[in-house]
Amino acid sequence: MTIADENRLETPLTAPGEILQTGAADYPGLDAWRQLPLKQQPDWHGHPDFDDAYEELSSNPPLVFAGEVDKLKDRLASVAKGEAFLLQGGDCAETFDGVTADKISARVKTILQMAVVLTYGASLPVVKMGRMAGQYAKPRSSDMETRGDVTLPSFRGEIVNGFDFTEQSRIPDPKRMVTAYHKSASTLNLVRAFTEGGFADLRAVQQWNKGFMENPAHARYEQIAGEIDRAVRFMDACGVEFDGLKRTEFYAAHEALLLDYERALTRIDSRTGEPYVTSGHFVWVGERTRDLDGAHVDYLSRVRNPLGVKLGPNTSPETVLELIEKLDPAREPGRLTFITRMGAANIREKLPPLVEAVRDSGAEVVWVTDPMHGNTITAKNGYKTRRFDDVMDEVRGFFEVHRAAGTYPGGLHVEMTGDDVAECLGGSDVIDESAFDARYESLVDPRLNHKQSLEMAFLVAEALTQVK
Ligand code: PEP
Ligand code: MN
Repeated sequence: MTIADENRLETPLTAPGEILQTGAADYPGLDAWRQLPLKQQPDWHGHPDFDDAYEELSSNPPLVFAGEVDKLKDRLASVAKGEAFLLQGGDCAETFDGVTADKISARVKTILQMAVVLTYGASLPVVKMGRMAGQYAKPRSSDMETRGDVTLPSFRGEIVNGFDFTEQSRIPDPKRMVTAYHKSASTLNLVRAFTEGGFADLRAVQQWNKGFMENPAHARYEQIAGEIDRAVRFMDACGVEFDGLKRTEFYAAHEALLLDYERALTRIDSRTGEPYVTSGHFVWVGERTRDLDGAHVDYLSRVRNPLGVKLGPNTSPETVLELIEKLDPAREPGRLTFITRMGAANIREKLPPLVEAVRDSGAEVVWVTDPMHGNTITAKNGYKTRRFDDVMDEVRGFFEVHRAAGTYPGGLHVEMTGDDVAECLGGSDVIDESAFDARYESLVDPRLNHKQSLEMAFLVAEALTQVK
């Protein structure tokens, strides 16, 4: 079936078995977005490979399962109540070449290390989530990029086109969606093996943190690290063997930007007959595509996954209440997460009206801080970067605002990697601009490196201890 055929379909539900095979082709309303304003997509429906790529994705197995997605929603309901904390971390944009065992394990390890520190700081369970296994599509400020006298389509993430500035690489290629699917499947396979096969054993994670602590630059964290170490040794000495220490749940999240990909990977849950995006457990709408009457909000309103929405400094309280109405009309605990990215200079002024409006409406949402996207600057040598101090200042502002409003600061969303890159400025092991030429790898936004990520976790743990 071609897209044109699919648009013509207005038939009601067919039998669940059929729907599973056709990727929810006939489910009512799932194609309403095609008639709505749709931003940030490649123009590729006329491409000779589009229909084949779309068909292949539609018939491939789901990457995640509805039961897992529901479990995550329960976990997020606990976060909304203030009984757990959410940690989301990973690349700004995953790359196909970045799907290696070393890079994936370093990233998962770093997230687990951060989670141990946060669990201790908060004395609460931490819900762990990677910007991984699907974070391939990027919104851009302009459709075209000009260098000298050459103008080509902008790079939109490797699920759409290549980064190299050549015509061949920049022309959108729908087959890349199929590659992204397979890369995501291998990533998830490894993540599942790591987190369920003993790699996440709390004692091992604690050992990894020792390496970090041995560096004198991190002496200020010695107290917290020492306490965690004693707690882990105490449990070990008591012979505590429970499963919770050995394996962990780890969820996959990405921005649901490329709606052809999300639509093709939508499946009907055979238990309930309801649609789920199966490209990841959690998906979010970005700051540039969260228009109330736009295609992205409409599409996500129709699937059952827990959802995030990014909120930048120009968001009004009315918009936030309308987003709740559209995306969580039934006020389901765990359904909706607001990820605020105000910038350190704005957060203390811009966040309170939003938090207060939601609080006063009685809606229960998860509030998460993304201290990265409001703090991007250009370094003197031209690289896109962020100052570690600005990032931390936004996190502190987030905690202050929630303390004053009597609401719960539920989580942290960061762009980070497990590798020793130099992309963000500062941190105790100071990174300065001179390191960028040799160790800047990100294709899009700058990430915290392994040490900066851990340092942030210790600082947030301190802030969390004060929340209680
Ligand atoms: C991102 O998370 O990489 C991103 C583009 O964020 P935002 O939509 O908040 O700008
Ligand atoms: Mn980014």
